[in-house]
Amino acid sequence: MSLSEEQAAPLSAETVVVAAGRPPRTRDQPVNPPLVLSSTYFGTGPLGDGDRGYGRYSNPTWDPFEEALGQLEGAELPGLLYASGLAAVSSALSLVPAGGVLVMPSHSYAGSLVMATELAEKGFLELRTVDITDTDAVLEQLTPAEGAAASMLWLESPTNPMLGVADIRALTAAAHAAGAIVVTDNTFSTPLVQQPLSLGSDVVLHSVTKYLSGHSDVVLGALVTSDAGLRATLLHHRTIHGGIAGPFEAWLALRGLRTLALRIERSQASAVVLAERLSTHPRVASVRFPGLASDPGHERAKAQMKGFGSILCIEVAPVGGAQGLSGADAADRIVRALQLWLPATSLGGVESLIERRRRHVAEPVTVPENLVRLSVGIENVEDLWADLEQALGSLDG
Ligand SMILES: *Cc1c(COP(=O)(O)O)cnc(C)c1O
Repeated sequence: MSLSEEQAAPLSAETVVVAAGRPPRTRDQPVNPPLVLSSTYFGTGPLGDGDRGYGRYSNPTWDPFEEALGQLEGAELPGLLYASGLAAVSSALSLVPAGGVLVMPSHSYAGSLVMATELAEKGFLELRTVDITDTDAVLEQLTPAEGAAASMLWLESPTNPMLGVADIRALTAAAHAAGAIVVTDNTFSTPLVQQPLSLGSDVVLHSVTKYLSGHSDVVLGALVTSDAGLRATLLHHRTIHGGIAGPFEAWLALRGLRTLALRIERSQASAVVLAERLSTHPRVASVRFPGLASDPGHERAKAQMKGFGSILCIEVAPVGGAQGLSGADAADRIVRALQLWLPATSLGGVESLIERRRRHVAEPVTVPENLVRLSVGIENVEDLWADLEQALGSLDG
């Protein structure tokens, strides 16, 4: 029995990250779930048939993390852990029937877009990309005047890396009216900041690699749903396609999850401070961050998020005069001049990471060349600011 079932009042998320997925209170047994390394389980024979079967079907080390994530997302069922965020994307996209229509944000995570585009090119599905912040445009793609209604609406909010905010509740209701199911990639927000199931989504997706693990030392993904039929279909897909988590990674993910609330609290607070300071810096042409009152997504974010996350993007101004640099070149200079921020892809770790996104060839060309994404970690905010200030200042020389 999980802790939340024993108690009358539901526990807050800050407590669930610590308390969920503990083993039974048995004298002299460990307080943490063990790391179980086995590809098979005693089953047939004198002991009778077991439930676990084989290591691709289940592993006891997945269970506590899946239970904790299900609770955190407010689901009635445990989540499903996958080998990576993209393995989870692959499983979720398998819910689109052959030839069905998938509506996806034009600024989804690049890997999700590449996968959907390749499936469309092979004729497995029809892909319609759309500006997810434009609710009317999404409605038009869900049920166009000509062409089939959508089978699946993919949501990501805020989007990576444009930080556009979708009206999740309105879009989910419209998708359901059109007969589509809704998958929401909640990687940027985590369930502590946004709970897509409570806003109507059918399935929530995570790159567990990011905030949930939080230490940039594992690659994992997850799906969560309250629909038993959908969960059974996804579990079957995971078992047959084999995108399963390694037990050590699963163990590390639960260990990381224990501090999620503290990490989010710190990094969100720092992101607000840095966004405000960057927005008045002369080398910064613009800041994208839903926490700024001036941001186009601010009101929507306030309505559906608890805080604003800790990813922000800046567009670096070109440098005039004799040395003349494009915004992209100036951005590369800044990234190279940083000493504390780590110039690396990914996000959601304890350490602050920074990168110019268009250095990736798969990044959509609609992402500006001079856009730099900052994943704010848990370091002291004044140290983070001092490093940014000296790097921005290096363009003055
Ligand atoms: C990183 C990421 C993914 C992919 O996850 P992996 O663990 O790298 O496979 C999917 N969606 C978002 C929003 C991401 O940031």
